[in-house]
Formats: sequence, C-alpha cells, structure tokens
Amino acid sequence: MDAPLEFDVLVVGSGASGLAAAVSADRAGARVGLVAKDAVQSCNSAKAQGGIQAAFGEDDSPEQHAEDVWKSSHETADRKLVEVLTGEAPSAIHWLEELGVEFTRENGGYRLARCGGASRKRLLQVGDRTGHAITKAMREWVDGSSVQTFPKSPLIELERRENGWRAVCGEHVIDAGTVVLAAGGRCFRIAAERGELTTNHPGATGEVTQIAVDLGAELRDYDALQYHPNGGAWPAPMQGYSIPETTRAYGAVLLNADREEFTDSLGPRDEVSQAIVDEVAAGRGVETPDGRPAVYLDTTQIAEDDANVSLPYMLRRYRAGGIDPLDEPILTYPVLHYQNGGLVIDEHSETTLEGLYACGEIAGGTHGRNRMMGNSLLECTVFGRRAGKAAAEKAA
Ligand SMILES: Cc1cc2nc3c(=O)[nH]c(=O)nc-3n(C[C@H](O)[C@H](O)[C@H](O)COP(=O)(O)OP(=O)(O)OC[C@H]3O[C@@H](n4cnc5c(N)ncnc54)[C@H](O)[C@@H]3O)c2cc1C
Repeated sequence: MDAPLEFDVLVVGSGASGLAAAVSADRAGARVGLVAKDAVQSCNSAKAQGGIQAAFGEDDSPEQHAEDVWKSSHETADRKLVEVLTGEAPSAIHWLEELGVEFTRENGGYRLARCGGASRKRLLQVGDRTGHAITKAMREWVDGSSVQTFPKSPLIELERRENGWRAVCGEHVIDAGTVVLAAGGRCFRIAAERGELTTNHPGATGEVTQIAVDLGAELRDYDALQYHPNGGAWPAPMQGYSIPETTRAYGAVLLNADREEFTDSLGPRDEVSQAIVDEVAAGRGVETPDGRPAVYLDTTQIAEDDANVSLPYMLRRYRAGGIDPLDEPILTYPVLHYQNGGLVIDEHSETTLEGLYACGEIAGGTHGRNRMMGNSLLECTVFGRRAGKAAAEKAA
C-alpha cells in the first residue's frame, strides 16, 4: 500500500457545501484535500435552479427571515442554527459575489422573488441556473487554489486515530486532522427503492451518513423527506424535473381538472404538496398521457418579461419538448426532492463527534422537518464556510 496522503482538513463531497468548506479551510491556511464520489461537477447543488434566500428587501430583516424558517419548519428547527443561517445570509451573498457569482439585478438592487412560506420577497437568483452559477464560481476558485481534488474517490471507510482521522477514499488512504462531511442527501436511493421519480442526482445515496452514524454520530429528523410540490409530470423527458418554485413566485397557480384553484400556491412546501396529493385522491386531478397523476400549473399567468429573466432554462426545456408554458398550463405532481434532517451539528458545523464536521443536506436542524425553498443553497454557503474555518482551526 502507498503511504497515506496527509491533509489538515479532508472535505468529503464537491457540492456547494463541500466547495464552500474547502474555500474557507484553504483561506484559513489549512492543507485541504477534497474527495468526490464521481466527477467533481456531479452533485445536486449544480442542478438547483430557483435561487437563494437572503434578507435584502427594504421591508425585510434577518429576524423576519428566521421567523419564516421557524414557521415553515412547524417550529421544529434548531433556533440557534436558524439565527446563524439568516443572520449570515447577506454576508454569504457578498462572499459568493466576491468569488464571481453575478446575481440577477434590477432597478439598482437584486431581483427578489417571494418563495413558498416567505412573508417577504427574499429570493436572489441567477436566472434559473443559480446552483450552476454558485458551484461553477466556487469550483473555479478551488481549481486555482492549493486544494487537492480527488474525483471518483468515494469515502468508503472512516476511522478515528489518535491525532485525527484515517479515511479510505476509492484507491486513496488519507490521514487528516479533521474531516468535513458534505456528501449530500439520500433521495436518489430512496426513490429507487420505492420506484418513484426524484429530482436528485444518482450520487445522492446517503452512505456517508451511515458511516458517521456507525462511528456514533447523532441524527435528527432523518425520516422527514421533502416532496417538491412541482415535479414535471409531462412530457416524459420532464418527469423528475423540478419546475422552479419561481414559476409560482411570478404568478403561476395550481389548478385542478375543473381549472379551479385549490390551495395557496405560495404556501409551505409540505402543505402545497399534500394539497396536490389530496386533490388527486379526491378525483379532481388530471392524468398524463402515460397514466400518471397530475394537476395543472397555470404558467400562462407569468408575465413574459419575468419568464425571460427568471425562467429561461425552464422555458427552453419545455419548448424543446413541444410545450410552451406561456401558452398552455403544464402538468405537475410532487416528486421526492430533499432530506430535511441529518447529522446533528452545532453552530460551528461540528457533529456530536469531535473533529468531525457536517454541512449542507447531510446535516440536520436548520430546516427542522420542512425546508423552505432557497434555504438549502444558503445553508451550504453559511455552514460550509463555518465548517471549513472551524475544521482548519481545530486541525491546527
Ligand atoms: C433539481 C434541484 C433543484 C434545487 N433547487 C434549489 C434551489 O433553487 N434553491 C435551494 O436553496 N436549494 C435547491 N435545491 C436543493 C439544494 O440544491 C441541495 O440540497 C444542496 O445543493 C445540497 O448541497 P450539498 O453540498 O449538501 O450536496 P450535493 O450538492 O448533493 O453534493 C454532494 C457531494 O457529495 C459527493 N458524495 C456523495 N457520496 C460520497 C462519497 N461516498 N464519497 C465522496 N463523495 C460523496 C457527491 O459526489 C457530491 O459531490 C435543489 C435540489 C435539486 C436536486
């Protein structure tokens, strides 16, 4: 066996949270290794479309943002984590800008949308490729830094040693002072087991969480899985696509078979998803040409200018499938999307095991049992930064 590679901080995962952790650990002076299961670009974060929340509106504040998170979580979130999330949101946006992310602007400020469960317009966007823009900027920064990346190197084993951790990642053995777990959720595996559609990428299988649990790390709200209210139901190539929630922010409404509104289209995600399922169960849904349940999302209500600025990718995809969402309603049904819970962390992203950190979708607490849209990319940035910094300091 080759001699183990040595780093101060090992980051596991190359989505938004892992990249944020790597940037911040590198800037704190640590020697950083970053491993990914597949290509470094392959992750859920790059697929995120709608946007990222931060209180920049004149009538808004981090406290109001925190209140909305608390209510949307049905008062199950960890309040301390929520305060960190919303309090650091504006500085996290500026940090992303410094790395090269260009958020969509209008009238001299950010273009802000109101997303489900939010009391204010708070969602910043980069068109409807926000996750792509954020991960691209961070990846480019990492590529120009001294962070060493190891694609196709899945974490298989993790063992606590006297002065840190030993990890087996594909063909590499890596010794590190501290480890940041940023390996995302497990919705792809659950959907495969249940025979359901999912928005997630194939790497979202959850084995890293299991490795941490086997070492003794604590979990919370792990059973709470989120269905995105608006999975694409038709045409077939759009099945499993997450229709951005910004469609509803810019005026699209949910309609039943009689073209009647049956729910508040901007309610919290779990309530909107349940309302769609109930409407279909009550016989007021529609059927796709291949026999799947659905309701209408009346996207014809969206102003063309708003769609061109905030939904260009969605428009392109549907039009390529022969449907123009600005001319006719599209068919939608909830789809498995997100793991709300995960590893217990403190405000520095440390798990219940010393020297083992977790950030992003693999961690629990920030959203309680129901996440608001746009708070996951934010969580990745805020707690990824914190994890990287704390892991670097502890390793030193
Ligand atoms: C289609 C879609 C749209 C979304 N839209 C939004 C949105 O608009 N706004 C928002 O806030 N959130 C959105 N989300 C949610 C959000 O994007 C994700 O929850 C978040 O980006 C997860 O980031 P992450 O870094 O925790 O995990 P991921 O981005 O999933 O990255 C996980 C990384 O871990 C790696 N990995 C997995 N297992 C291993 C292993 N064994 N060893 C090594 N590496 C491993 C993977 O290869 C990957 O690099 C969306 C999600 C999807 C799927």
